[in-house]
Amino acid sequence: MPEQLVMERLDENLTRLKLSRVRQILPEMLKASESESWSYLRLLDALFEEEVALKEQNRIERILKGAGLPYLKTIEEFEFAFQPGVDRRLVMGLFDLTFIERKENIIFLGPPGVGKTHLAVALAVKAAECGETIHFTTMADLIDRLRADRQTGRIGRARRCYKSSLVVVDEVGYTPIDRDECNLFYQFVAMRYEKASTIITSNKAFDEWSELFHDPVIVTAILDRLLHHSVVVNIRGNSYRLKGKLTVPVLSKVEGPVLSPSTELRVDSVEGPVLSMAEGEVS
Ligand code: ADP
Ligand code: MG
Repeated sequence: MPEQLVMERLDENLTRLKLSRVRQILPEMLKASESESWSYLRLLDALFEEEVALKEQNRIERILKGAGLPYLKTIEEFEFAFQPGVDRRLVMGLFDLTFIERKENIIFLGPPGVGKTHLAVALAVKAAECGETIHFTTMADLIDRLRADRQTGRIGRARRCYKSSLVVVDEVGYTPIDRDECNLFYQFVAMRYEKASTIITSNKAFDEWSELFHDPVIVTAILDRLLHHSVVVNIRGNSYRLKGKLTVPVLSKVEGPVLSPSTELRVDSVEGPVLSMAEGEVS
């Protein structure tokens, strides 16, 4: 068969097999292999390495797109120098992702703009790159989904929030929730407890959660499960959004620690207080 026809058939077959990268680079690779006298093995290996790399990159992009992330940030983009109060070793240690295997939770606490969402996103991106299923949601969105599913009587809109191996619930405590919503959140936390990891970000210290969630009994039950196997990272510092615009520290109010001694916690600073939001700051 003439070479031209072989090329055409190969092109068609590569299209049918959806090997788009091989199809794209084949002419150039054939030339390189001829001029540099590659073995068949080396040529095949180079072609399939490229195809697999592209498929992997597309897979990660698809996961990240569908995960509801507010933005894409990595840990390399996080300036630890700007937030000297953050335990760098503790945070960097989380990126080995073993907390997902151990079904541990991570809770980032601190005032607005200190990087809570950034760190949560960076962990979710890393987890997705390593093949984990991830989902990002805010407290308000989560409650909407849980309520919708209760109405229909089946897990639908909240499916990913239940099933993903890592779920980020951002902005817990930004808006108060009523007793019924508190119950829904409890069910969510209880479902994931010891089954899968959840990352929570909040601008409220744990002792302020009771006020927000109305029912102290349920709040205790929620915190009990969330904190039992968890890492709490308190970020005390200034808002990155106000970087270069401040002459005085933003934080003024300090609240006491609130963790019960029975919980197995790894906290970034034992004596460190959990800070409340500074007055007048908005997220
Ligand atoms: P919040 O604590 O309110 O969730 P974010 O994590 O959303 O704050 O941070 C606000 C913005 O500032 C984001 O664009 C984030 O990437 C950036 N940012 C916050 N802290 C840092 C930091 N230490 N280094 C680099 N960027 C940061
Ligand atoms: Mg945030």
